[in-house]
Amino acid sequence: MVEAYIGIGSNLENPLFQVNAAIESLAHLPDTKLVSSSSLYASKPQGPQDQPDFVNAVAKIETHMSATALLSALQALEQEQGKVKKRHWGERLIDLDILLYGSMTIQTSELVVPHPEMQSRDFVLLPLRELASDIPVLGSVDALIKELKETFVFPLNT
Ligand code: AMP
Repeated sequence: MVEAYIGIGSNLENPLFQVNAAIESLAHLPDTKLVSSSSLYASKPQGPQDQPDFVNAVAKIETHMSATALLSALQALEQEQGKVKKRHWGERLIDLDILLYGSMTIQTSELVVPHPEMQSRDFVLLPLRELASDIPVLGSVDALIKELKETFVFPLNT
């Protein structure tokens, strides 16, 4: 059984609904238990600015799936939920990233873990802080947050 953290984001077609639906889907993955999920946050898009704000959350799961099987399962969920990738860093119906997979570091052409951008993403670190104070490989979440120059993420009162 491996503890893994999943980053979730959406900025299309009722993002709040999309993020909640994704969390619900994670709970139903095979050989997997949803341990906890953060509250929801709103964040400004980091790429092109002419797109709606994002809703983000992080979920913690325990899984017997391998990292590659988990990636495939998340991609299947993205497809089921109708991911439409319009442009790089552009708008997303739902985006699911493996942030951490136990204490493993993975570097293949299809999977990089810890997720290479998680340390610089406020919309990952702030929700993650609700679930963990110290994380494998990267250490203190508060210390990572202190490294951020600015934050553009706000808790959503749902
Ligand atoms: P995107 O939809 O833009 O987030 O990119 C998806 C691509 O990133 C897929 O082709 C994955 O193979 C690749 N990828 C690399 N590392 C990860 C990760 N830790 N979590 C999710 N996708 C990843």
